[in-house]
Amino acid sequence: MVQTGVRTLEPRDLPIPEVGDDAALLRVEACGICGSDYEQYEGLLRTPMPVIPGHEPLGVIEKIGDAAARRWGVDVGDRVAVETMLSCRFCAACLGGRYHLCADRRIYSYIPLSDAPGLWGAYAQYMFVHGNSVVHKVDASLPASTAVMFNPLGAGFRWAVEMPRTGPGDTVLILGPGQRGLASVIACREAGADRILVTGLEADTRKLALAREFGADHTIDAENEDVKARVRELTDGRGADVVVDVSSYATTPVAEALDYVAVGGRVVLAGVKGFKAIPGFVSDKIVMKEIQIQGAIGVTSTGYRSAIRLLEARRHPVEKMHTHDFGLRDAETAIRTLAREIPGDESIHSCLLPELD
Ligand SMILES: [Zn+2]
Ligand SMILES: [Zn+2]
Repeated sequence: MVQTGVRTLEPRDLPIPEVGDDAALLRVEACGICGSDYEQYEGLLRTPMPVIPGHEPLGVIEKIGDAAARRWGVDVGDRVAVETMLSCRFCAACLGGRYHLCADRRIYSYIPLSDAPGLWGAYAQYMFVHGNSVVHKVDASLPASTAVMFNPLGAGFRWAVEMPRTGPGDTVLILGPGQRGLASVIACREAGADRILVTGLEADTRKLALAREFGADHTIDAENEDVKARVRELTDGRGADVVVDVSSYATTPVAEALDYVAVGGRVVLAGVKGFKAIPGFVSDKIVMKEIQIQGAIGVTSTGYRSAIRLLEARRHPVEKMHTHDFGLRDAETAIRTLAREIPGDESIHSCLLPELD
């Protein structure tokens, strides 16, 4: 499925490329859908077009060159998750172990069709896998729609556990019960967090119930309850050791995170706000409480590895947050369902499965 303009996707037949010594061809089994897909569809990301979207690929290695097979330790027939970012490996960020901040980074789903061999994004039956990719083997016996959750779960591990160093005894407050908020609940449970609180809106009843099922101790309806008072009450007046904002566009959670967090606590900001300024943001609270605030963009290998291990262990009923499977030709419906543009239908985690076409 090729994006040719704003809110325009069309099916196209493209030649399957040859792969050299240091590349592979993936037969796509599933491609996860998230808020970034909607932003790309809406043209907000200003990606060059035409382009094949799809940045959460899971599939089976169909062809692979010797060098790539050696480096990745995978072969034809292996199921793999492909990290969405290509890094240069030589800039200061890459050499410093922060390859997701590479100065020269490219995202598969933003590379235009005109850039050979063209088959970059995962809204496709086949996808070219560049030699600079990072791939992870995944148990082939998991259903594809579950295995593809390596992506949101990886975010949960990196944003809610790795970055704020969440561990036993910590109280964690997660702002936003979308797929990444729910993934954060699972990751924090896995990390041994003591108490997990999740906020959402009135319309999020189903997601908040799922949050409790995944291990949240309390959920808070931010539209009908006083979040500050509830957090105080549920933390014996201390505030949360860790606050993770995974809400999109809402600016209030960022300003109020400084009130929710305990003295010396950590705040991770992972929800983007469309570059809006934050009204009511009082930086003195950061000083007085010695709060650590960290921005989070993307996920790295350690988060993905934790996610894949968790999926393979089958310890959590993660598949309960999977709500929709779509064929490639229904990619627009998938995106519009996620964006709540389809009345009466709510998606939490959804994916495209080329086998349905
Ligand atoms: Zn995504
Ligand atoms: Zn680099």
